[in-house]
Amino acid sequence: MDAIEILKSLKDKGIRFTPQRQAILEYLLSTDTHPTAEEIYKQVKQKFPGVSLGTIYNTLNMLKEHNYILELPCGDMSSRFDGNPVNHYHVMCTQCSKVVDFHNGLIDMDELAAEKTGFEIHTHSLIFYGVCPECQNIN
Ligand code: ZN
Ligand code: MN
Repeated sequence: MDAIEILKSLKDKGIRFTPQRQAILEYLLSTDTHPTAEEIYKQVKQKFPGVSLGTIYNTLNMLKEHNYILELPCGDMSSRFDGNPVNHYHVMCTQCSKVVDFHNGLIDMDELAAEKTGFEIHTHSLIFYGVCPECQNIN
């Protein structure tokens, strides 16, 4: 979904987005860096100097609750956010904290987990940790 479709679908649910909140959504959809809330704050602040970190968190939580975005729990480091909620995996560099998408169309993990456990699966989180090519070259 693009920002316009998401905003329309939120409006159908009775949720209206201010221009500040729209900017948060638009930034998240425009990047593949999986930014933290603080990184999103710094970006949006350039256009909306009055925006607060609280607004960033509220907006991200709301988008997450309605399954428009993903929150990636990154251990001790703060969460990262992904504007692409469709199933895919992530690799994270333990040295520079970069997070990169990893697509594997062969295995549907939700289906596999449902089959093996009898659970009705809603979502999953899978992050691989390692060292990225750039950090390998520095060492
Ligand atoms: Zn790295
Ligand atoms: Mn991703």
